[in-house]
Amino acid sequence: MQHKLDTLIRQVEQRQDELVGLLERLIRFRTPAPPARNTEEAQQFIASFLQDKGFAIDKWDVYPGDPNVVGVLKGQASERYNSLIVNGHMDVAEVGQDEPWETGPFEPVVRDGVVIGRGAADMKGGLAGALFAVQLLHEAGVRLPGDLTFQSVIGEEVGEAGTLECCKRGYRADFAVVVDTSDLHIQGQGGVITGWVTVKSRQTYHDGTRKSMLHAGGKLFGASAIEKMMKIIQGLQDLERHWAVMKSYPGYAPGTNTINPAVIEGGRHAAFIADECRLWITVHFYPNETYEQVAREIEDHLLKVAQGDVWLRDNPPQFEWGGSSMIEDRGEIFPSLEVDPNHPAVRALISSHESVARRQAIVDVSPSVTDGGWFGDAGIPAAIYGPGNLRNAHAVNEQVSIEQLVTYTKVLLKFIYDWTHTAKQPDAQP
Ligand SMILES: [Zn+2]
Repeated sequence: MQHKLDTLIRQVEQRQDELVGLLERLIRFRTPAPPARNTEEAQQFIASFLQDKGFAIDKWDVYPGDPNVVGVLKGQASERYNSLIVNGHMDVAEVGQDEPWETGPFEPVVRDGVVIGRGAADMKGGLAGALFAVQLLHEAGVRLPGDLTFQSVIGEEVGEAGTLECCKRGYRADFAVVVDTSDLHIQGQGGVITGWVTVKSRQTYHDGTRKSMLHAGGKLFGASAIEKMMKIIQGLQDLERHWAVMKSYPGYAPGTNTINPAVIEGGRHAAFIADECRLWITVHFYPNETYEQVAREIEDHLLKVAQGDVWLRDNPPQFEWGGSSMIEDRGEIFPSLEVDPNHPAVRALISSHESVARRQAIVDVSPSVTDGGWFGDAGIPAAIYGPGNLRNAHAVNEQVSIEQLVTYTKVLLKFIYDWTHTAKQPDAQP
């Protein structure tokens, strides 16, 4: 079989025009998010592509016009051999009105060894490589012993967890590889959670009462929610500093774990004392922390801050964490992902990379966030591994190197083959 695999790996190079053609095809589907709700045609293309290769297709609307597609290729000896999920998102970053693209963002250009177009790096390149690997295995008549599940999901760019929906639907495997932008590094990631902190007065007062709630003898126990929010923001800054000093994680510059007061809304009219103020925060945390844990730390800290203020003590801040979409309910969660370099699948990926790329594999952490965290959250061992670099993701004239795309496709082909040909460990529980 080794001979057959080597032949297949050589074919990636010989047929690289087809691989590039497949990527161009994917780029031509206009799938920016926002506005989103535009992936139906592209997802149908993936569904048909996989169906042709023997996959059983599950396609369902996560939102109208934005379906997830999951294809399952049942292995010849599923119960004894390792299963694999290959996961990628079909949506791409939004495109501004006046961006100076060479051609259009959805009209791919191939020249000087690169493919240019929206999504080339993030992450239609990764999807094209993975699909082409599947195609070559199919055409060679290879029957994998372990199950192979291909997930083409939606909504990643706007915090809509298409991948979470796959996990909720029960899709599991012994390992998952997220083919998002990683410049061929094998990566884990920190996480992000957004939250709303609300300070609210039980009563609404007219502007004319301000003197009575501020000055000696006024006898009105009230406050401006906007002014009280200043104490909350100060509290968040103190906690952010404390985290920067005390927490760290290999691969991240100290202080990467930030709490950003991103948006503030408050007050109703100049004729009133502000009776409500809402602060939208974005919290970055390290791979060895969970979003539940950091949310609790922030709540505990702010409730203590509130204890130190006579009015906030009676009117403590309220919290609302996460959300399922930045465009539907203004909130998102990207759980963190830790990669265990000694996990047998990670070792297999390292060895596939090193034998194909003839370079040492780099296992590190992504400076960004991907859907990889949902696998960590679901208890499925996973890693991010994809072509393209983050300088290009979301950029004008986004591009991916064809040489890297070819290397990537070879590595992934070998990894899919090797991992699904490896017997399950006796204690593994997919
Ligand atoms: Zn991405």
